[in-house]
Amino acid sequence: MPALDQILRIAGVIEESIVDGPGLRFVLFVQGCPIHCPGCQNPQTWDSAGGKAVTCKAVLDKITQDPLVHGVTFSGGEPFEQAQALLPLAQELKSRGYHLMAFSGHTLEQLIRREECRSLLELLDILVDGPFIEAQKSLDLRFRGSKNQRILDMKATRAAGWKPVLDELHDRAER
Ligand code: SF4
Repeated sequence: MPALDQILRIAGVIEESIVDGPGLRFVLFVQGCPIHCPGCQNPQTWDSAGGKAVTCKAVLDKITQDPLVHGVTFSGGEPFEQAQALLPLAQELKSRGYHLMAFSGHTLEQLIRREECRSLLELLDILVDGPFIEAQKSLDLRFRGSKNQRILDMKATRAAGWKPVLDELHDRAER
């Protein structure tokens, strides 16, 4: 049984969203980001001591109480700064059949070098990777803020030996 008493620091949640990944999703905004991209829309999530502390179990209970939600998105802040604490939650969600997506300001290639991040990557369906680059900002992109960011199909990426494979959503315009 995964350690669902793990403590997460979070900035907040959206219980039902249709703009943070495919389908109706629960969005968990993780607190703390060391990347500090110029032009970041959520600088209030940078301070790793900010936000509030919750257990994985409390988040799981909130997610599972809504029968309409079938997907969960880890956003931020930088979710992979708390990869170890997110892991039991991700394992439990996957075992219950949820679709899992995460955003990261790091690239896949950077994340796979860190063991705890790799364990979390093993469980994802979609990763949107890379920092926000203001010079490449576009409002026409779906689920990403700048053109350098990639929407990766993680099942295909793992099958390719961690060679990044774009998801079919990557080239779809916002609307
Ligand atoms: S990685 Fe995301 S949260 Fe962190 S500074 Fe960049 S845009 Fe903001």
